[in-house]
Amino acid sequence: MIVIIYFYTKNNKLKKGTVIKSTGSWYKVMTDSNEFWDCRIRGKLRLKGIQSTNPISVGDNILFDAVEEDKLEGVITKIEPRKNYIVRKSINLSHRSHILASNIDHVYLLVTLIAPETTTGFIDRFLVTAEAYQIPVTLLFNKVDLFDADGLDAVNEFKSIYENIGYRCLNISATNPHSVEFLKNEISGNKVMFGGHSGVGKSTLVNALDPNLDIRTSEISEANLSGMHTTTFAEMHPLPTGGFIIDTPGIRAFGLLDFEKAELCHYFPELNRLRGDCKFSNCQHISEPKCAIKAAVETGEVDAGRYYNYTMMHSDDDDETFRKDIYK
Ligand code: GDP
Ligand code: ZN
Repeated sequence: MIVIIYFYTKNNKLKKGTVIKSTGSWYKVMTDSNEFWDCRIRGKLRLKGIQSTNPISVGDNILFDAVEEDKLEGVITKIEPRKNYIVRKSINLSHRSHILASNIDHVYLLVTLIAPETTTGFIDRFLVTAEAYQIPVTLLFNKVDLFDADGLDAVNEFKSIYENIGYRCLNISATNPHSVEFLKNEISGNKVMFGGHSGVGKSTLVNALDPNLDIRTSEISEANLSGMHTTTFAEMHPLPTGGFIIDTPGIRAFGLLDFEKAELCHYFPELNRLRGDCKFSNCQHISEPKCAIKAAVETGEVDAGRYYNYTMMHSDDDDETFRKDIYK
C-alpha cells in the first residue's frame, strides 16, 4: 500500500515537455504551458534498438520530475517513442551515431536555380534521405523575383520533374515577407527543418518568420566542421506564431544513413512504384534485362536525370560523396 501511494504521488509530479536544446548533460525542456525547465537525466535511460552516443535528443517528448520547482530544474524519467529521428555518424565510435533531432514533422528544402545553383544531384540525395527517415518534404523554389517570364518557365519546368513524382513544390521569395507568410500557419504546432545549400536564403526565410531569430547556419558550419570532430548540438527555436524551427548547425542536409544499396530505389518514389514489374525480384535497375524502371526511362515516364542520379548514388562505394554533399 505504501508503495502504491509513493508511486501515485511520484507520478503526480511528472510533467510533460519537449527537449528544445541539449548541451550534453543538461537539457532545456519546454512544457505545453510555455515554461522552460533545465533537466538532467537520472541514471541510464536507454532506448531499445538505438546505439547512440546521446540518449536524448532535441525534439524528444519526455516526462520529467520537478526537483527544484522554484529554479525550474527537473530530472527526465521517460522518453516517449520517437516517430522519426535524424542521425550523424559518430566520428570515433564507428557503430554508434549521434541523434541530431527527433520527431520532425516536415522539412522544407530551399532550392535556387541560380545564385547559387542547386543541382538535381543535391536535391535527389536530400530527398532520398528524407524518404528513408520518413520525413515529408516540400521544395521551396526561392528567389523567384530574379526571373523574368522566360526564367519562370524554366523554373516551372524544373519543378514539374518533382511535382510529377508527387512532391509539393512552391515558388517563394524570402525577401518578400508576404510570399512566405503562409508558412507561419503551416509551421504552427509542428517541428520543422530548413535545408539547402549555403546562400539559398535559409536565414532570410527564418528571419521573415521571426525577426528575433538569428540562426547563422553557414557561418557556424565553416568554423566548426572543418575537422568534423566537434559535436553538433541541434536546437529548436519556438516561433511566436507557434511551432518550432530545428537548427542543426553546420549541416545543410541530413545526417548519414545506413541502408543497403539494394534498398536505394525504395527511396525514389517513382522507382519504388515500378520495381515490382522488373523481371528479377533482386533487380538493381542498372544492367539487368527486362527492367521495368529502365523501360520507363526509355519512354520518358521516369525522368532520365533522376534515374541518372540514382545510378550515381548506387555506384558510390563509400560515404565520401554523401559526406561532401551534406557537410560543408
Ligand atoms: P543561407 O546561407 O541559406 O542562410 O542564405 P541567406 O539567407 O544568407 O541568403 C543569401 C543571400 O540571398 C542574401 O544576400 C539574401 O539577401 C539573398 N536572398 C535570400 N532570399 C532571396 C530572395 O527571395 N530573392 C533575392 N533576390 N535574394 C534573396
Ligand atoms: Zn529493374
